[in-house]
Amino acid sequence: MQGVVIVAEDRLARRPGDYERFVEAITYQDGRVFADARGTKDLYSEDTESMGLFGAVISKMEVRKMQRRMRRSHRMRAEQGLPVGGTRPFGWKPDRLALDPQEAPLVRQAILDLIAGRSLYSITNQWRQEGVKTSLGNEWLPSSLKLTVQNPRVCGWREINGELVRDSTGNPVVGQWEPIVSPEQWMAVKNIFDARKGHFIYRDGRVGHILTPDFREPNYLLTGFLRCGRSKPDGSLCNASLRVTHSKDCIQHIYLCPTKTAGGCGGVGRRGDMVDLYISEAVLAKLEEVQLAASADPVEWSGKAEYEDAKSRLEELRVQWTAGNITNELFFSVAPDLEKRIARLRTEAQNFTAAAQRRQARSDTDITEIRRRWYLAEEDGGLPLTIKRSYIREALLAVIIYPSGKGRRKFNPDLLEPIWREG
Ligand SMILES: [Zn+2]
Repeated sequence: MQGVVIVAEDRLARRPGDYERFVEAITYQDGRVFADARGTKDLYSEDTESMGLFGAVISKMEVRKMQRRMRRSHRMRAEQGLPVGGTRPFGWKPDRLALDPQEAPLVRQAILDLIAGRSLYSITNQWRQEGVKTSLGNEWLPSSLKLTVQNPRVCGWREINGELVRDSTGNPVVGQWEPIVSPEQWMAVKNIFDARKGHFIYRDGRVGHILTPDFREPNYLLTGFLRCGRSKPDGSLCNASLRVTHSKDCIQHIYLCPTKTAGGCGGVGRRGDMVDLYISEAVLAKLEEVQLAASADPVEWSGKAEYEDAKSRLEELRVQWTAGNITNELFFSVAPDLEKRIARLRTEAQNFTAAAQRRQARSDTDITEIRRRWYLAEEDGGLPLTIKRSYIREALLAVIIYPSGKGRRKFNPDLLEPIWREG
């Protein structure tokens, strides 16, 4: 909530104490606005309270003053880069400055895994199995992990009311505690979650459309990627998404085109283990190719000069204004535009850095290690299915499976056609 506008006072407060409670609630956070028919009112100022239509109680005023002092001290400590009270943040020792040698590496790995495409659900699951508890001794939930990794504290920054605490030049204040990851890594994670707002998130981390959620959790490597390549009488492809099925005489799963009533043609099926193996190899080969390309070209953000220029111009403007060399009128007509431009460029810079970070993470990833872990069982250190699926998703859009003719035939990889993502 940013504020409240009321059109009729009697709708706000009917009984004694209503107004009091309302002021209490609205001033609980700094920066909210209030307006009634007569105009805006600063509910944070004592004046308004003493004018209070419904008789403000002095003791309540005192409480509010105290709360305000506390909030101010919070902000001041934040601006000085000092940690504030409250629950011990997971990853740090009780002094909130030094890293906890057990917890910090877990947070770091979780952030790297999230950037690589692993889901909150999968990480939480692993932590619960390993007996990792929150700093209050509770079981981890995807929601609590999300709060932890999204908190800018992990990279040494601080947030108040959802905004980064910045110094006078607009740069985030760096805290005095040891960071767990770099600001770029934190931004990469933050961007992942911001991009998903308002969308349905699958348990493997995929972003779905809110209107067509698919609640089934895929248990197979290629569920959702495979398409039927059988030609229909009119010459077009069936293109139905293949389902997984099992048959009595085969321990392996089978990918199968659904029946006509289920929207397919029922005419294509293939041994699951062989398809999984062949597509895994194709994707791993693609990853190696991408890694080579990524390590070759480091790119610089094209807006850097404009950003620096805008920042120094604003700073110069401030200096001149403070010195009285330019009028208020000029300052306030120019400064807001400049500030807006700086904010836009800052967002651009963050997005660019996050993208670069993901590219870097990809090129830093040791493909031989991925290849080794790809075929191991998860309990032996193998990659979780969600991670493998995210590598596949990054590499390809779909795989078309062409019919192999009647009866059981020898597996022919030429009848699988991966549709690779561009670029
Ligand atoms: Zn089909």
